[in-house]
Amino acid sequence: MAHSLPFQSLTQVADQLAAGQVSSVELTQAVIDQTQAVEDRVNAFISTDSVDALAQAAAADQRRAVGELLGPLDGVPIALKDVIAVRDQPLTAGSKMLEKFVSPYDATVTTKLKDAGAVLWGRANCDEFAMGSSTENSAFKTTANPYDLSRVPGGSSGGSAAALAAGEAIATLGSDTGGSIRQPAAFCNVVGLKPTYGLISRYGLAAYASSLDQIGSFTRTVEDAAIMLGAIAGHDDRDSTSFKTPIPDYRAALAEKKGPWKLGIPKEYFGEGLDPEVGAAVEKAIAFYREQGCEIKEVSLPHTEYCLSTYYIIATAEASSNLARYDGVRYTHRSADAKTVEDVYFKSRAEGFGAEVKRRIILGTYVLSSGYYDAYYLRAQKVRTLIRQDFLNAYQKVDAVLTPTTPTPAFKIGETADPLAMYLQDIYTVSVNLAGLPGISIPAGFSEAGLPIGLQLIGQPYQEADLLAIANTYDSTHDWNSRLPEL
Ligand code: GLN
Repeated sequence: MAHSLPFQSLTQVADQLAAGQVSSVELTQAVIDQTQAVEDRVNAFISTDSVDALAQAAAADQRRAVGELLGPLDGVPIALKDVIAVRDQPLTAGSKMLEKFVSPYDATVTTKLKDAGAVLWGRANCDEFAMGSSTENSAFKTTANPYDLSRVPGGSSGGSAAALAAGEAIATLGSDTGGSIRQPAAFCNVVGLKPTYGLISRYGLAAYASSLDQIGSFTRTVEDAAIMLGAIAGHDDRDSTSFKTPIPDYRAALAEKKGPWKLGIPKEYFGEGLDPEVGAAVEKAIAFYREQGCEIKEVSLPHTEYCLSTYYIIATAEASSNLARYDGVRYTHRSADAKTVEDVYFKSRAEGFGAEVKRRIILGTYVLSSGYYDAYYLRAQKVRTLIRQDFLNAYQKVDAVLTPTTPTPAFKIGETADPLAMYLQDIYTVSVNLAGLPGISIPAGFSEAGLPIGLQLIGQPYQEADLLAIANTYDSTHDWNSRLPEL
């Protein structure tokens, strides 16, 4: 039986819109109704504006009526993580610091989605400035995992993952600095794609760690991820790190690229700390690829043990620098008690930032300070090069690397209060950002307790077409996404 409208894939709703079986207003209203029905339990959104969304939907229907269909995203409700700027809409980054901020401009991805006719709907909750793995660091609310409301949806893009899983959008965008798209996708039974660093413009993304940050999508299927990527990828003069590379038709590539592939299994990712049920699901996926004629090879990524420490030095260093702009003077929170100029800085920052953000600013300032710069920051940059080299060596032998996305399924809200334990969540994902590679998490099963499990595939730089085709080999022949949360 077909799922109700809010739970259909982007491809399915696009077909129905194109065939005139449903209007954008009907679809958007169905998503709004579903949001109203579940949001008191899921808490995926920081803000929503249904009047505005319905107006956008009506405009999409008008276009269609005169035969001006803009493409598969035209009229489809899509929610953005609240770190991506949309003109005249609030942009909080999950922080009190930006509680009252309204963006005066559109991020480049926002412009691209608007140009594609998408109905921009809902600002998804996230950890403050994208720092965290659970959304518990959001200054406003903790999002619940739709598959078990006592558990986290992952983070930092937890609201984007949970909103999609709960039928509160047809696709969503997030950002991934060390796993923030892939880990919540794994926890919420959806597809999460972090593209190669530089493929998507970061203009209009609230910066966390600029050499690691990348925008990407949450979708129900890999095919949907291919559509979203085609819509948002491409060079942008306003982001000097965005790369000039032709953007292929990713969706068409799914059918053209058939494999068989060579897949590398890094032995370092299957050791201590991996939950047996997650391990078993990944082993099953490996067996599936083998049955499809893929060659499975063990590979070694020898610097894996340094990934987490390297990541947390570089990410905090960049965060301490990026977050200096929130000074209480311009567009941020300003302390009501400030009497002197110094007060404006100190008190505004003390009141505006949460504990985890402060912890990272302190850590990052320390690793950049004179006397420690060489010992920590510079050394971390060198190790980063070695980590990237590990992957490039592996790609001499294989097309992609296959790993679990996370060591465990979703943990309980409040359970991981120790920051170090939270950082360990990122053990399989941060290497991909350090190396600047594309990574995708796809649904790969459920634990006995009914919790989703994710499979991660890591591709070669700018070879998203291959990565998506490899992922689609599994995704198009399994239907884990048909198991909806019981809400
Ligand atoms: N959990 C990681 C962190 O806290 C990754 C976050 C992210 O990718 N934005 O830094």
